[in-house]
Amino acid sequence: MKSFKQIFKESENKIAGIAAAPGIVIGKSFLFTKEKIQINHGDISDIDEAVKNLHEALTKSKKELNKVFAIAREKMGDERSAIFEAQMMILDDPILIQNIIDRIRTEKKQPEYIVDDEISKYQNLMRTSDESYMKERAQDIEDIKNRIIRNLQKKRWQSKISSDVIVVSDSLSPADTILLSRCDVKGFVTDHGGLTSHAAIISRSLNLPAVVGTHNATHQIKDGELIIVDGFHGYVLSNPSKEQIHFFSEKIEHLKKLQKGLEEFKDQPAVTLDGKEITLLANVDVSGEIDLVITSGAKGIGLYRTEQILDELNEFPTEEEQTRIYSNLASRMYPDFVTIRAFDIGGDKFRFLEYDEPNPFLGLRGIRLLLENMSLFKTQIRAVLRASINKNIQFMIPMVTTIKEVRETKKIIDECKNELKWEKIAFDKDMRTGIMVEVPSAAVMVGEFANEVDFLSIGTNDLIQYLMAVDRGNDLVSDLFQEFNPALLRTLKFIVTESNKYKKELSICGEMAADTLAIPLLVGLGIKELSMSPATILYAKRIIRSISFKKANQMAEECLTYATEDEVVAHIKKFFKENNIIRTRHII
Ligand code: PEP
Ligand code: MG
Repeated sequence: MKSFKQIFKESENKIAGIAAAPGIVIGKSFLFTKEKIQINHGDISDIDEAVKNLHEALTKSKKELNKVFAIAREKMGDERSAIFEAQMMILDDPILIQNIIDRIRTEKKQPEYIVDDEISKYQNLMRTSDESYMKERAQDIEDIKNRIIRNLQKKRWQSKISSDVIVVSDSLSPADTILLSRCDVKGFVTDHGGLTSHAAIISRSLNLPAVVGTHNATHQIKDGELIIVDGFHGYVLSNPSKEQIHFFSEKIEHLKKLQKGLEEFKDQPAVTLDGKEITLLANVDVSGEIDLVITSGAKGIGLYRTEQILDELNEFPTEEEQTRIYSNLASRMYPDFVTIRAFDIGGDKFRFLEYDEPNPFLGLRGIRLLLENMSLFKTQIRAVLRASINKNIQFMIPMVTTIKEVRETKKIIDECKNELKWEKIAFDKDMRTGIMVEVPSAAVMVGEFANEVDFLSIGTNDLIQYLMAVDRGNDLVSDLFQEFNPALLRTLKFIVTESNKYKKELSICGEMAADTLAIPLLVGLGIKELSMSPATILYAKRIIRSISFKKANQMAEECLTYATEDEVVAHIKKFFKENNIIRTRHII
């Protein structure tokens, strides 16, 4: 059988988009086209009648929205259905409504024109915002605006479609997404929208595969045509070949097998057969993922890569903006912890500051860059402190190479605390500070580092890169990027021993923690906290619950005696086989 890459490479029917909600589905498309609303700009003769119509339309809209809200609450729970509450608030906004009524009376124009004009003003303000989140919210307001206008025009609301279809649409409002999902929709494809669009968020909450931002899927896909949606990779295949259908049907079967019984682990602890409990945490890259984290059964956030905010906004957010983002994250996770990592700028990541470096991975990256750009660093530290009032935030420093960097950072944190005290702004005075152990010098001196900080987190992505002298993004040398190289294993063992000596909390937040083949090894080496992408958590839990710590520890000790990666991998695979462990290294 052909590989996944071949299947995709050869296909001309591939429509690329953003992987918004994981899963694969094959089904008939339903082109959901919304009638374009025509606005009547005409004059009116009976003002009182127009105001009465407006009130009726508002009442009807509220009734409809209440229905949507009730379904959303039932399907997604209170917290995640709060987006509809925001729409209700617009309907109840006395200033907005009074403005509309006043304008109807003075301008004597059709209410639908005034409603359109007034609400569009709000939207335009939001659309000019640089924050993608705000832009998405402008889209949500479109939904409520159209709802009021439709009710003014006394038109019906299409919420029923044939079941078992994949909805393909230009864009989808949260209400569309919720209502359509009631008709046993199998998935969603939209031309517009990003990861934080509500169609994406709701799809993830409802566990329906979705691909958004395809630009022109509605032009490429015919109504009723068979399509395949791959929400893992962000592709849609229109009118798939027999081979493609066969390939993806097998994948779906495989997924079903892997997922069977997975949900039952959600509320169970990640504990080994002989009682060793492991804490599973989530890595968060984009703010929209938080819903996934909440449903994943994670016990907190082990790594929040704040530099992703810069990618989303394309500029440095202000202290206020950052405070809002971090506070939001912390309150949604409360009482669980959120580990906010300082901007890890440089290397192959966000490059805002124009440093011309011949070798950026060995240059001004992470803490090095932050210490060179003090106001940027202080703005972030102040925001993190301000968001820490509920005592569930800890702060982590990336790319630490020397003890001096840690001491300087601690000094700056103290300065920020003093400033906030003076300004009478609340914060958690005991907020914990930790470092990423991801540079060999930090691994070698880990005892001394442990003595300086509250916690340590191993970044295996960079630790392997710098330990093996292999560019983590270079295909030519990817075979040297060895997760199971004995040099790395021995380094990990050393870090565990030293952190135990200093009684400091230790976790792993590199990709290795999400590699199910590595999990028994990491547990066996004595690592008690693993932080990984939310989608992997239940798989990790299943593995942990099926191994004995004693046996994993023995296997890890044996691995430490080998000289090559091949020997280590063979030994771990033998362990999986002998202990009958379900392994899912790559889901697809
Ligand atoms: C790592 O290096 O392992 C890590 C988690 O950080 P990043 O991948 O963001 O560099
Ligand atoms: Mg790193």
